[in-house]
Amino acid sequence: MSSTGASLQLPLSSPLIIKGEEGDATGGFVFERENPANTRQVATAAAEGSLEDVRAAIDAAREAFDSNTENWVYNYKLREQVLFRTAQLMRENADRLAKVVSLEVGMPMRQAVPHVAAAADIFDFYAGLAGKIYGETFTLPTGSMINLVKEPIGVVGLITPWNFPLTQTARKVAPALAAGCTLVVKPASYTPAASYELIKLMHQTSMPAGVVNLVSGPGRLIGAEMVTSTKIDKISFTGETGTGKDIAARAAHDVKRVSLELGGKAPYVVFDDADIDAASRAAIFGMFRNAGQACGATTRLIVQEGIHDAFLSSVVELTRGIEVGDPSLQSTDMGPLISSSQERVVQEYVDFGMDAFKLVTGGNKLHGEGFDNGYYFEPTIFDEVDNSSRLSQEEIFGPVVAVTTFKDEEEAIHLANDVDFGLVAGVWSADYPRAMRVARRIRAGTIWIWDNYAQPVEGIWGGYKQSGIGRELGYYGLEDFLEVKQIFTDGTGLTMKPPYAQVIKQ
Ligand code: NAD
Repeated sequence: MSSTGASLQLPLSSPLIIKGEEGDATGGFVFERENPANTRQVATAAAEGSLEDVRAAIDAAREAFDSNTENWVYNYKLREQVLFRTAQLMRENADRLAKVVSLEVGMPMRQAVPHVAAAADIFDFYAGLAGKIYGETFTLPTGSMINLVKEPIGVVGLITPWNFPLTQTARKVAPALAAGCTLVVKPASYTPAASYELIKLMHQTSMPAGVVNLVSGPGRLIGAEMVTSTKIDKISFTGETGTGKDIAARAAHDVKRVSLELGGKAPYVVFDDADIDAASRAAIFGMFRNAGQACGATTRLIVQEGIHDAFLSSVVELTRGIEVGDPSLQSTDMGPLISSSQERVVQEYVDFGMDAFKLVTGGNKLHGEGFDNGYYFEPTIFDEVDNSSRLSQEEIFGPVVAVTTFKDEEEAIHLANDVDFGLVAGVWSADYPRAMRVARRIRAGTIWIWDNYAQPVEGIWGGYKQSGIGRELGYYGLEDFLEVKQIFTDGTGLTMKPPYAQVIKQ
């Protein structure tokens, strides 16, 4: 039986937070989240928000923005303090936060601990930017002046996924607050407590009430209301491509701004001259971190013919060394999948792969002591996979990887690009000019050369093609929450300016 959550009092509670007040949902509705490592345990009992609740949360955020509560919009020092203090509080509560994430996601503690640290770093980074939102000034030959002023976009609806709940929330909340926005956050229903615990900590800072509101509940109700509410200026969404398309279509109704961080199907191109040891370790990190439930997961190993056998045998050896099990144990490398439905999806793709391609390792749901009550699946690799097949084209969101070979650089680039997604990719070659050439031609938001899944907050994250619109992290992540306004001031002092003669004769 899983010991995850042993030191947490279960079930965790996860109330709504509206205008600074924690509370139950209207009507007292609650939904339960099971522990994916031990489904006999209820991990979280969360408030199931209603339309009335989300409307109250939207009103609170709107009022906080429109009334410029406590000078929130202009007082960057206050915003800076709130963000720095949040990072501090996260670090002071890191052990609990990591346990909550590990419990709800099934993420091994060895990944949950750095996950919390990464989320705290995001708050620090944007705290540092809150006071550096400069505009631009330009003086025309007439002496008139153009001031380009950057302003917060307004009230933002943040809709987040479950797979990395704290960093995904931090990537939106921190830059939005640095910009001076006010928010309604709708967390994924698998991980309500992780978001609640973070936003609860934020309310221990000097953040004014109403600036950040949290409403958990069904996406098709709570999320959908946020998307269509005319009181919300922007939606920042991370989740499946299908949900993102639906949101973009509905948000278009009132020309709402939308940022989308969607699915991926990352290629990992390995040339004959690659360092096998380094390339295979980096591949494993991308393939099986969080059981492959990652938008940027390495899902397609695209390997040059000459290195195929040696590289694959190194990858398979490392894969067989992965310990699948209880996420709370330090020895565990890979935990369970998030849910029974995700397990079914993974099984279905594996069944398809078994019929069509060559299974190299894995392929089974795990049974027996410690496994029977959780969604544990073996890390799985298929070889000789046709890149046009479902296995290489569709996001599986599990520990299933497809290997395909290529002859030359041109074919590698073609295979890497031959998918609807374009989030991330890896390139391995000892020939740096070649690695750079290939990196330039792969159509994806991030390309790693000689590394994998590095996501420094100073960089960016976001997709080409159907992987999304917009960028998170770095300065670009802040700009996603800013509007630019022109303020034009006359410098001529003339009462009758030359253009007026087009309408006035004297
Ligand atoms: P999901 O689309 O099922 O849900 C995401 C969020 O949207 C949840 O909070 C959900 O409740 C809400 N939602 C669902 N239907 C909605 C609707 N009709 N209107 C408004 N909101 C709605 O995705 P998920 O299963 O939580 O997350 C996994 C997906 O997220 C994968 O596809 C993964 O690739 C993607 N993802 C992308 C990134 C990235 O940065 N590109 C990062 C993490 C995850």
